[in-house]
Amino acid sequence: MTQSNIDFLNLVEKYDAPLYVYDSQKIADNYNRFYNAFEVPKLKVHYACKALTNLSILRLFHSLGSGLDCVSIQEIKMGMMAGFKPEDIIFTPNNISEEEYDLAVKLGVRINVDNFEMLEYFGATYPGLPLCVRINPHMMGGGNRKISVGHIGSKFGISIHQLPLLETIVKSFNIKVVGVHVHTGSDILDSDIFIKAAKIILGVVDKFDDVEYVDFGSGFKVAYKPGGLHTDISEFGKEFSQTFNAYCEERGKELELKFEPGKYMVSNAGYFLVRANVIKQTTATTFVGVDSGMNHLIRPMFYDAHHEISNLSNPEGKKKIYSVVGYICETDTFGADRQLNEVRKDDILMFENAGAYCFAMSSNYNSRYRPAEVMIHNGQDHLIRKRETFDDLLVNQVDPKLF
Ligand SMILES: *Cc1c(COP(=O)(O)O)cnc(C)c1O
Repeated sequence: MTQSNIDFLNLVEKYDAPLYVYDSQKIADNYNRFYNAFEVPKLKVHYACKALTNLSILRLFHSLGSGLDCVSIQEIKMGMMAGFKPEDIIFTPNNISEEEYDLAVKLGVRINVDNFEMLEYFGATYPGLPLCVRINPHMMGGGNRKISVGHIGSKFGISIHQLPLLETIVKSFNIKVVGVHVHTGSDILDSDIFIKAAKIILGVVDKFDDVEYVDFGSGFKVAYKPGGLHTDISEFGKEFSQTFNAYCEERGKELELKFEPGKYMVSNAGYFLVRANVIKQTTATTFVGVDSGMNHLIRPMFYDAHHEISNLSNPEGKKKIYSVVGYICETDTFGADRQLNEVRKDDILMFENAGAYCFAMSSNYNSRYRPAEVMIHNGQDHLIRKRETFDDLLVNQVDPKLF
């Protein structure tokens, strides 16, 4: 799938493995393709930074003109360090404390409220504060249940069926609802879902006079295999813009359109490089055991996600069938029964689509170090995170030597 002229093997020589590599040009291309797909008077794209939160990635998005979507106060702080202005940051957390909301109010970001209790809290504590409400339209959006967040059993958002109660609370506290938000999940297979959700959400916009923007969240699907299903953003953008513009015209409103893509922006711009430690033949399977595991890339185990794997060290080698597995004491299978060019000990394997929710979900499980991260920008490689060391594992441990 990759058409990249990055010299990955050279990077491994220089920085060692396992290693994450990000291509800034691909991210810029993704952002521009996305932005240009919509034909509306006012558009703001807020990168959902939980997908990949390195400061250099945030600075890159800032330089592209993007806003940010944050789900924790720490993400907000990092976004501000990277140069984002508070008004360009949307805060869409769930189930957080009042204290965390208070901090976000102090920082001046746009707040997205996803339950009545918090709405009442805001109404009582911050009269006149502009707020955005997160609506759950109850549509099965995501590619699988773990990443579907808009369905009836989901913990996210204010139910569309409770719209009358929402109106009552807004009226009674005189809350200024400036935004309406929906996010139905990741990997949405059918973009009609967006259009359907849009119609429901625009019905909510009708109920509030102060609305300035409508935020349709994300869920754009990227291809994980050559020819794999993905959202055709320009086709979708055209159709969606028509629906949106027609609504605005009909109502005589000049609303801003917002989206919060994460995966779409960074997934295909990331590569993960690992080294083959062991080739092990069992009765049924040939395993390649690599110097990484679910501690560095958990998506295959957690979401059954597919990542293309290739052997960079032996591109002409005969194709053989392998199961690529990790070094963690769990069944951490990256890919079962994959055809790879013959793998020898110390060969370097590459995982694709390693930009979104890969490093961001990494851990120190089994007391392993998290990998280094490198950004390729204008043909140069830049270290943007050091590999951890033994000291990092101990840095917050307190040892009162009780025994
Ligand atoms: C995670 C998240 C996103 C990004 O979803 P992707 O599938 O990565 O594009 C957007 N908005 C909210 C509120 C999220 O929680």
